[in-house]
Amino acid sequence: MSSNQDERPRVAIIGGGLAGCSTAIHVAALRPDLVGQLEILERARFPRDKPCGGGLTGLAIGILRSFDPEILETGVVEVRNVLLVSGEILRPVRLRQPMAVVHRRDLDQKVARVATARGVELTQGVTAQKVISESNAVKVHAEKTRSVTALIGADGARSVVRPSVSVKRGGLARLIEVVTPDRMDQPAELRSTIVFDFSATRHGLQGYTWRFPCEVDGVLCINWGIFDSRIYENAPRADLPALLDEFMTSHDYPTVRGDWVSHPVRRFDPDDHFSAPNVFLIGDAAGVDPALGEGISLALDYGDLAAHCVIDAFDRNDFSFATFRDQLFSHPVGQSLLTRHQMALQLYRPGSHNNEAALAIMEHWLESA
Ligand SMILES: Cc1cc2nc3c(=O)[nH]c(=O)nc-3n(C[C@H](O)[C@H](O)[C@H](O)COP(=O)(O)OP(=O)(O)OC[C@H]3O[C@@H](n4cnc5c(N)ncnc54)[C@H](O)[C@@H]3O)c2cc1C
Repeated sequence: MSSNQDERPRVAIIGGGLAGCSTAIHVAALRPDLVGQLEILERARFPRDKPCGGGLTGLAIGILRSFDPEILETGVVEVRNVLLVSGEILRPVRLRQPMAVVHRRDLDQKVARVATARGVELTQGVTAQKVISESNAVKVHAEKTRSVTALIGADGARSVVRPSVSVKRGGLARLIEVVTPDRMDQPAELRSTIVFDFSATRHGLQGYTWRFPCEVDGVLCINWGIFDSRIYENAPRADLPALLDEFMTSHDYPTVRGDWVSHPVRRFDPDDHFSAPNVFLIGDAAGVDPALGEGISLALDYGDLAAHCVIDAFDRNDFSFATFRDQLFSHPVGQSLLTRHQMALQLYRPGSHNNEAALAIMEHWLESA
C-alpha cells in the first residue's frame, strides 16, 4: 500500500447504526484481511438514542446471534402472543418462533462493540457534512476531508450520502412513538402481547398503531406508536397524534403528547437509484419496509449484501458498483423488499377497507417473519 493510502481508508461507511456496523462485521467474518481498509464515521457517541419500537423478527434475531450468541441475553422481552386488530375484528396469533423487543440504545451499542472487537475502526462524534464525487473516488467532508475509493451510505432516513446517487423516489414514512411505564393492573395476557391495530386505515392512515411490551433500564414499559407509510403520496394525510391518542385511550392509557418523538423511515421503492460510481446506499438510507416500517432485520441483512459487494469490488478492482442494483434484487434483502413493496400497495390502497384481507396479509407475514 502506498503511504497516501495509509493515511486514508479505502472504504468509508457513513453511519454506525445497524446497517453500517453489520456491513463491517460481515466483512470481518468473510475477509478479515480487508478490515483495515474500513472506517465507520458515526456522528453520535454510543450509547445513543434511536427512536424505534425495537421489535425483532426471526431474521433479525438470527443475524444478531450470529454476531454474538449472547447479544440478546439481557434487556430483551420475548413475545409469543400477537393481537391483530382491524375495526371490530380481533385476531390473536400464537407465534411459533418468538419475536423479541429490544431497546435500541442498548442494542446498537452492543452491535457497535462487536464491530470494534473485530478490529473495525469506528470514529464516533464525527458528522459527514458533504459528499462530492470525483473521478474514481469520493470526497467526504467530516471534520477533516477524506478521499475514499468507496463510500457506503448507512446514515439513516435523512442520509447526506443519498443525494450523491441522484435518488428519484423512495419518500419518507411518518412515525411517532412514546414509551410509558407498564401497568400491573392491566390483564397479564395483554401486557405480554404485541398489538398491531389497523383500524385507523378508515381515517386515512396508511399504516397501523402498535403496542409493544419492552424493557428500558431494567424496568418493564410499553412502547406505543403509529406508522404511516404514505406509499400513496397524493392521498390526504392522517392526523397521527389524534389517532395515537385514540389508540392509547382505548387501552386505558392517558394521552402523553408532550413526550412523543417523531422520526421518519425511508420507504424502499424498486424504481429508486441505489448506487453511483464509488457509492452505494443501504439500510434506511436506501429504503426499508414500506408496509410495516420494519427496518432492523433489513438493515442487518443489507450488511451481508454490502459486505459481498465491497469484497467483490476489491477482488475485481472495480468500484463502480454498476451492478449493485442487480446484486440487491437477487439478494434475500432485495427479494424481501420487493415483496413488502407489493404488500404496502395492497394493504393501503385508498378506499379499500377490506379488514379481513389486511389481517390475512399480516398473518401470512407473521408466519414467515
Ligand atoms: C418510531 C420508529 C419505530 C420503529 N420501530 C421498528 C421496529 O419495531 N422494528 C423494526 O424492525 N424497525 C423499526 N423501525 C425502523 C428502524 O428503526 C430503522 O429502519 C433502522 O434503524 C435502520 O437502521 P440504519 O442502520 O439503516 O439507520 P439508523 O438506525 O438510523 O442509523 C444511522 C446512523 O447514522 C448516523 N448518522 C446519520 N447521519 C450521519 C452523518 N451525517 N454523519 C455520520 N453519521 C450519521 C446516525 O447517528 C445513526 O447512528 C422504527 C423506526 C422508527 C422511526
